[in-house]
Amino acid sequence: MSAGLAEYDLNMRPLLDLSLEALAAELATWGEPAYRARQIAEWVFRHGATDFEAMTPLPPALRARLAETFTIAPLPVIANRAADDGATTKALLDLGPTPDGRTGDAVETVRMDYDPDDDGEADRTTVCVSTQVGCAMGCRFCATGQQGFTRNLSPSEIIAQVLHFSRERRVTNLVFMGMGEPLANYASTVAAIRWLTRPEGLDLRQRGITVSTVGLVHGIDRLSREGLQIGLTISLHAPDDELRRQLIPTSAGTTIDELVEAARLYIERCGRRVTFAYALLDRVNDEPEQARALARRIRGIQAHVNLIPYNPTAGPDLRRPSRERVRAFLHELQAAGINATVRIERGVEIAAACGQLRTDVQRASMMAVDL
Ligand code: SF4
Repeated sequence: MSAGLAEYDLNMRPLLDLSLEALAAELATWGEPAYRARQIAEWVFRHGATDFEAMTPLPPALRARLAETFTIAPLPVIANRAADDGATTKALLDLGPTPDGRTGDAVETVRMDYDPDDDGEADRTTVCVSTQVGCAMGCRFCATGQQGFTRNLSPSEIIAQVLHFSRERRVTNLVFMGMGEPLANYASTVAAIRWLTRPEGLDLRQRGITVSTVGLVHGIDRLSREGLQIGLTISLHAPDDELRRQLIPTSAGTTIDELVEAARLYIERCGRRVTFAYALLDRVNDEPEQARALARRIRGIQAHVNLIPYNPTAGPDLRRPSRERVRAFLHELQAAGINATVRIERGVEIAAACGQLRTDVQRASMMAVDL
């Protein structure tokens, strides 16, 4: 169950809100040698330490001072659910009280194991992380979008979602596709990616990470200049600006042409292919003519289209298209020379699929089946 207020000490700073460099600088003011920050990071990321006491090679006085100053405690688990015969797991994590004393914020994170050769050992483990509590983008087809925005997550709260699973098994891939718009919480998202990819951190391959955005052009531009080789998914969901505005009301100031140009620049600067996500909604954006219009808009850039048949969530007026309609849309794109696939769904039964992440602590704790 959720940790009570008494279990948190708000004077304690989450260690992973500091970069490695900032931690080293702070430890230097304590008179500690430069290698200490790396040593501590190794204990957190490689050994999965959740308190400083476990870091036995460190002098006891330093461990005590670290414990008085910082926290590396994991986020308490409110609930776990499993689906797909255990290959998909969702955890609801308690974020604890905010500095102004508000409680009840929680965040969902999902682990997906892939075992293509079916030998019982996952070849790839992807964690889907959230970057905000709620989301301000208001996409009509998204449960998170319907609950509105509460707050941004800090770097340590994003990293904690990955560490939650990496303590159990090796995480190979990350997708920033959970609750929230990562590029609207830019600084925390990039700070978390830096820890998770650096050798002193979790040492994940940059190419194994994908950031998914609803299309914040300035954020895409900024990300393309970070010197990171991470993948980018841009949600289009419509072949024309008017329909896109209806589905993503907050996209009003951005045109599809601007997004295609931002994608082109991203590909040029990062050397990575961009994926356009397109949620297929029955009789809204799934007509063959709309597929042809989409193909015309994105032709000529090295992009891939990921079709996502809508998962029944927030909108009662929105439906999932039939298989035939999905196939016909895919066929039109491919016939126009566009590289396109239909996303394989995971975790629908535990509401872990894209657009279904939702933080409703009360409801979750009533329905939760702890593993
Ligand atoms: S689809 Fe993504 S960007 Fe849109 S409301 Fe949901 S969480 Fe926010």
